Amino acid sequence: HAKKLGKGQFQFYTETLNVEARERLALDSALRRAIEEEALSVVYQPKVNARGRACGFEALVRWESAEFGSVSPVRFIPLAEENGLIGQLTWFVLRQACHQAAAWRAAGHPDLRIAVNISPSLFREKDLAALVGAVLEEAGLPAANLELEITEGMLMGDVQRSLAVLGELKAMGVDIAVDDFGTGYSSLAYLKRFPIDILKVDRSFVLECDSGNGGLAITRAIVSLAHSLNLRVVAEGVEQQTQLAVLNALGCEEFQGYYFARPMPAGQVAAYLAGR
Ligand code: C2E
Ligand code: MG
Ligand code: MG
Ligand code: MG
Repeated sequence: HAKKLGKGQFQFYTETLNVEARERLALDSALRRAIEEEALSVVYQPKVNARGRACGFEALVRWESAEFGSVSPVRFIPLAEENGLIGQLTWFVLRQACHQAAAWRAAGHPDLRIAVNISPSLFREKDLAALVGAVLEEAGLPAANLELEITEGMLMGDVQRSLAVLGELKAMGVDIAVDDFGTGYSSLAYLKRFPIDILKVDRSFVLECDSGNGGLAITRAIVSLAHSLNLRVVAEGVEQQTQLAVLNALGCEEFQGYYFARPMPAGQVAAYLAGR
């Protein structure tokens, strides 16, 4: 009897795997098409300073698939990294974002900054800095208006390679932010060695910073670490006024989250800026 059951379970297991594999394959080819046809879009979420003024936007990719509906980047970014589409996807987002930021400058917002997420795998690409430079030139955007958000994973990969690429980007005048800080494994020693400008406190700490479960202590430690390394601090995922009050008191420079605004299409940015 046990053997029978075992066999049944095995069959069930392989069937599940097949379903998953098929769906993944379908998702993969749909994503490939979407990227080729430039059917992805980009939305923009404001970053606000302590005086409540928008000082920049983060570009976030969106995929509305005819077949799968709206697919979260949390799902398709890792897929793009695995199947070699991440380069194309990133250039699409980077170009859109830089053209938008150039348009905002021309419309009377010369200091607005645009932040673009860069996957760790792109740091192994030879010419990242040259490619970023080419996009900036094409868009007519000064490097000082661009921020690249990287994750701690990159810092722990090929350190020499990453240092070289970051050095080139810094020399061009592009700012570097470490995203989701506190969730990865980067050592403090590395953090000091890399030419980083901004540290983004992960949403999970922001969520707890006003709750009294040690969340405040951790957030305070991260902010003070960042400031002692001369980094600016951005708090991500701010949803409550009480969180904002704590983060403000700790001296965070910038804030981002649903409390201020959700990510919005480019067409809504002008109205958002005019309304503040
Ligand atoms: P991230 O870079 O940390 O981006 C912040 C995410 O948190 C975004 O989710 C944003 O919509 C969400 N968020 C912002 N404020 C709040 C808030 O107050 N509460 C909550 N609950 N969430 C908030 P999104 O757009 O789904 O992106 C998820 C992740 O996917 C990003 O995390 C980033 O790692 C990745 N991603 C998005 N766009 C790109 C892209 O163009 N390239 C790459 N490489 N990764 C991207
Ligand atoms: Mg980000
Ligand atoms: Mg983040
Ligand atoms: Mg995050």
